Amino acid sequence: EQNIALEKQKTIAENATKAKSDFLSMMSHEIRTPLNGIVGIVHIMMDEDQNSKNRNELLTTLKFSSDHLMAVVNDVLDFSKINADHIQLDAFAFDPGLLFENLRKTFVPRADEKKISLIFDIDSKLPSHIISDSVRLNQIITNLIHNAIKFTETGYVKFTVREIAREEKTLLLHFTVEDTGIGIPVEEQPTIFESFTQVRQEDNENKGTGLGLAISKELLLLFKSEIFLKSEPGKGSVFSFEIQFPYLEEEVAVKP
Ligand code: ADP
Repeated sequence: EQNIALEKQKTIAENATKAKSDFLSMMSHEIRTPLNGIVGIVHIMMDEDQNSKNRNELLTTLKFSSDHLMAVVNDVLDFSKINADHIQLDAFAFDPGLLFENLRKTFVPRADEKKISLIFDIDSKLPSHIISDSVRLNQIITNLIHNAIKFTETGYVKFTVREIAREEKTLLLHFTVEDTGIGIPVEEQPTIFESFTQVRQEDNENKGTGLGLAISKELLLLFKSEIFLKSEPGKGSVFSFEIQFPYLEEEVAVKP
């Protein structure tokens, strides 16, 4: 009996070691690739004469590589903070309508570029003061819309916010991010929420860190929520979640 317990412990330890070394080799690759690109381009530019026609092209690649590196490092920092339980949600009042409008503005250029429609369907009767962590909420929705646009070539990406229930001090909101993109095969659906999984890695254009959904899932746990996925290859995907927020009644004039 003792042997079985020991064996079990050993397997757990071995799995943890393997996960760690997978993480490290994955990370070295993720960081080294754009960094090599950046260093290489800097060398080329230093060797070339100042007015080279290549300059703009090189700068574009340089920007692409450094943006990617920045995204990888941010994701990894977030991810390790979450894993170490170092992220705590803030609780400040914010206007959800404003948050969603800013999000829309951020994504309009990307959607336009790909000639797909970006639809924001926001419940018109949301209170103007929700108390929560708007930065983390923004991060979750951003990850989902970013993916939706990334994996959609025709049709639309639609973000919906619906009020499900309102009590005296709390509000239940339902969020969906829907796309008409490539979809995700059923067998891959559970794994995409794990760290570093990418279903289609060969596609360079769509290369991300494979951390976005893992981060979103972990962040949603902090909101005491979970994420759901419905997807069909060739048709599209719908990601959804619900969050309960404290909110403030419309402002009452406060006497000075
Ligand atoms: P990343 O996008 O950085 O690769 P994510 O964790 O955000 O990492 O996503 C993991 C994988 O899940 C993606 O590589 C992609 O294969 C798949 N995926 C995520 N969102 C979508 C979507 N809206 N449509 C199709 N595939 C998706």
